[in-house]
Amino acid sequence: MTAERAAFYRAGLRRAVAAGRDVLAGGGSALDAVTASVCALEDDPLFNAGRGAVFTRAGTQEIGDGASEFCRAARLDFADRDYFFTEARWQALAETLKQEAAGRADGDEARRHGTVGAVACDRAGNLAAATSTGGMTGKLPGRVGDSPIIGAGTYADNATCAVSATGHGEFFIRYAVAHEIAARIAHGGRTLSAAAESVVAELGRVGGSGGLVAVDRAGALALPFNCAGMYRGYAKDDGIVYTAIYDEDFAPA
Ligand code: ASP
Repeated sequence: MTAERAAFYRAGLRRAVAAGRDVLAGGGSALDAVTASVCALEDDPLFNAGRGAVFTRAGTQEIGDGASEFCRAARLDFADRDYFFTEARWQALAETLKQEAAGRADGDEARRHGTVGAVACDRAGNLAAATSTGGMTGKLPGRVGDSPIIGAGTYADNATCAVSATGHGEFFIRYAVAHEIAARIAHGGRTLSAAAESVVAELGRVGGSGGLVAVDRAGALALPFNCAGMYRGYAKDDGIVYTAIYDEDFAPA
């Protein structure tokens, strides 16, 4: 990671957090805020969702026929395939397939995944989570990861917390990660940070790399990860956007 590249990532994070922050500052809902943040990340080619999404092993970027049909029926805008293509993701697929052909698992987390997500708590105390992803580089066409599965990679319940995760999706599904955090709060009386950190650490011990962002009904945040780094940011009532990439302290962006 060069300083220049890190600055691009921080700028992308800043735009996304600011988009959600502005919705909330204008009295908007948590749901609209997370949607605005995630749309900003989908449009940014650096992140693995929308423009810049990773490729399946068949060299496609896909959302499934049913999803496309649903979007058409809802009269959403469509973009050409070229819009989603980035050379970096194409090269990442080539590298992942090369490693597999040589009998090695591609252990480079940055190359393999990088889902985007957001959580928010609005003035009315409503919590929301949104997650969007290209999935994992070299995945089987048609694979559905954890991101769209409520309780695995995405979850929100006003009684407990909102969670959006990134990482090796099969592990997040198996351990129902997002719901597990809510359950530890609801049934175990844990704080958000204790619940989120313990689940992410346990996941790491069984080989499930990744992390998540979470917020509870009091506005407390947790952003734990068990891999080398996780692009992340937040804003609270003062509106200042903070970002971080590795283990360093959050810095105003
Ligand atoms: N969780 C996503 C998936 O497994 C990948 C990612 O987080 O980048 O599809």
